[in-house]
Amino acid sequence: MISDKLSRDQIDGVSRLIEPAERVVILTHMSPDGDAMGSSLAVYWWLKETKQAQVIVPNVFPEFYDWMPGAQDVLICEKEPDKAQQLIDQADLIICTDFNEPKRIGQLGQMAINATCPKILIDHHLFPSDFADVTISYADVTSASELVFRLIYQITNHQLPSTNYQLPMATCIYTGLMTDTGNFAFNSNYPEVYEIIAILIAAGVDKDAAYNNIYNAHSEGRMRLVGFCLDKKMRIFPDYHASLIYISGKELYRFNFKTGDAEGIVNMPLSIKDVYYSVFMREDKVAEWEKERANGSKTKIKISMRSQGDRPVNIFCNEVFNGGGHKNASGGEFYGSLTDAVNLFLSNYEKYFKKD
Ligand code: 5GP
Ligand code: MN
Repeated sequence: MISDKLSRDQIDGVSRLIEPAERVVILTHMSPDGDAMGSSLAVYWWLKETKQAQVIVPNVFPEFYDWMPGAQDVLICEKEPDKAQQLIDQADLIICTDFNEPKRIGQLGQMAINATCPKILIDHHLFPSDFADVTISYADVTSASELVFRLIYQITNHQLPSTNYQLPMATCIYTGLMTDTGNFAFNSNYPEVYEIIAILIAAGVDKDAAYNNIYNAHSEGRMRLVGFCLDKKMRIFPDYHASLIYISGKELYRFNFKTGDAEGIVNMPLSIKDVYYSVFMREDKVAEWEKERANGSKTKIKISMRSQGDRPVNIFCNEVFNGGGHKNASGGEFYGSLTDAVNLFLSNYEKYFKKD
């Protein structure tokens, strides 16, 4: 039996906003991952039968999400900012998934804040900012996709809606659950996750296909990049049970780097015995929309941190790298050189990492 996690107020609030809306825009976070794609597209399929729904993402998503139902219909703001602005201007309702503050979605965030229509936020990060009319935010669940499932399930009297789009919707929810838990390796230690999965599989989701489409769909370049990172770039700090990998734009270029090729590399050092913290830094170019924020720097360093157990990394990311995230999976960014970002890490890790 799946409990009613969402409150009556949240369910009523969402129903009240959704019912009269004809044009709904769904937004999710920068550099979309499986949960961003899954949660936003699940909302899209949920509403598609009765409304004009449109998912807009800030920038391109990795090719290994192309197979997801509805991925081809997603608008990429970085490529078509005028169209994104027009859709937002015309929207009756904006639904945001898998991010807690508009800053996390780049220029789309400003467009969303300026929009006068009502907004709903469905997210699982700590400290949601207060920009939405209805906020569904729980940090103790696997994913935003799980919250989308719970919302739909509760609204539809404890079942999935029997529309023509039930299967694509369920497939997107499953994909978000699977990817945000590392295929159920972490953050998924409670029975209801598996009750939800049972319902999704009963609806026809092919979980093995979802796994193969995501995890066995990389390029040769990505595989060689993984090898290079682990063999040549990984530095271990035994006293602090930590690992650091950092990689420049030039090095990435050698491996024909494409969006998504670095995904998951940060998790790998955690499979070494006695390594409990892992940090991955990647140099990127500053995009047009963030030039102001970059303060003249042409490069931006994307930082990812992972940890195990009671060793939070979100505070480090927040205080030093202007980011945040979950206790064991966080990130941030640094406008400047890779060397400066690495030095910033080196002068701070002893403060934020535990020795035991
Ligand atoms: P990833 O390392 O996969 O890019 O991000 C892991 C998690 O860290 C994300 O789910 C998100 O919660 C958080 N995160 C990553 N980058 C940022 C950032 O720049 N700012 C904030 N606030 N959170 C981030
Ligand atoms: Mn998520």
